Amino acid sequence: MAEPPPILLTPGPVSTAPATRAAMQADPPPWDAPFKALTRDVAGRLVHLAGGDPATHLCVPLPGSGSYAVEAMAGTLLPRPERNGGGRLLVPCNGNYGKWLEASVRIMGRDAVTLDGAEDAALDPQRIADALAADPAITHVGVVHVETTTGLFNPVDRIAEVVHAARRRLWVDVVASLGILPVRLNDWHADAVASSSNKGIEGVPGCGFVIARRDALLAMRGNAHSLSLDVEWQGRFFEESQGRFRYTPPTHVVAAFAAALDAFEADGGQPARFARYSANCRTLREGLEDLGFMPLIAADIQAPVIVTCHAPPVPAWNFDTFYRVLKDAGFIIFPGKVTQVPSFRIGCIGQVQPADMERVVAAARAALDAMGLRPRSWP
Ligand SMILES: *Cc1c(COP(=O)(O)O)cnc(C)c1O
Repeated sequence: MAEPPPILLTPGPVSTAPATRAAMQADPPPWDAPFKALTRDVAGRLVHLAGGDPATHLCVPLPGSGSYAVEAMAGTLLPRPERNGGGRLLVPCNGNYGKWLEASVRIMGRDAVTLDGAEDAALDPQRIADALAADPAITHVGVVHVETTTGLFNPVDRIAEVVHAARRRLWVDVVASLGILPVRLNDWHADAVASSSNKGIEGVPGCGFVIARRDALLAMRGNAHSLSLDVEWQGRFFEESQGRFRYTPPTHVVAAFAAALDAFEADGGQPARFARYSANCRTLREGLEDLGFMPLIAADIQAPVIVTCHAPPVPAWNFDTFYRVLKDAGFIIFPGKVTQVPSFRIGCIGQVQPADMERVVAAARAALDAMGLRPRSWP
């Protein structure tokens, strides 16, 4: 009998449902009515899921992963230096996704500043308010909702209040939160959010999207640094053509995305997904804690997306052994550390249940055994 395929706890990509993968069996012609209707339907559902209103917000799908969508959002919406004196982006930063947003803006030759915070603490809205008061040249603020570097969530509701009160424009990277935590585009007074097909909605990788205020997009016509990553142009073309991408769309990915959204809605939408992922996260986090692993972030800022633990500070600890034993048990985890301190990360999203997390914890115990480490035997 063939081995069952491994479960991805990377995340993402995430493990997907058979019906999602089955939706990729045909080769849809991109310019025909059925594919355009499917794409419009996906875009419309995403506007609602992000807390937007179709009258005032537009979902613009783009080929690529979440990073492409985030970069397209920034490149389209942050004014170039020669445009009305240019824009300056503030990125309050407590992980790599914040740093990469700032890096992408600099690479485009735009102006960005960071407000660095500790990677194991949520962003502090008051510090953001102070930074905005201190620098009138800041026009935009870009925040990451769930920082997948560690798995913490930032208090975007309160951050949005201070950004709105300071009359600056807000973007939110909701790549790791959409479908899992409430996203409130309208209530946040945000100009845009960006996300992708392959995390909380459990599609396959390959489709990013930006959901933006129509007026914010219109005001930035001609601003983008890039032809293919121009969200305003793509959005205008999408509406005029009733559902076409300007260039080759990821047709199979969009078909799978629609199937994943069907399942997402049938399951009970964001609240149900939050509940399942929370049960996964609790089982995983508490199981690892029982073995003696120390989570990097406090439970009250833990998003149910990925759990990061300190590597045991003992010579017997060996990440490669840990990775291999988990892999042999059928689980693929992120292959290395991304935090400043030695750590490992295990995702808890995708087509997985608390029972799978129990098996991950059992595999972690077996990995300790293989290293000759007893549970709770390190400081
Ligand atoms: C996954 C993720 C992205 C996008 O990463 P890709 O490697 O392009 O998929 C962006 N921001 C956050 C917070 C993420 O978790």
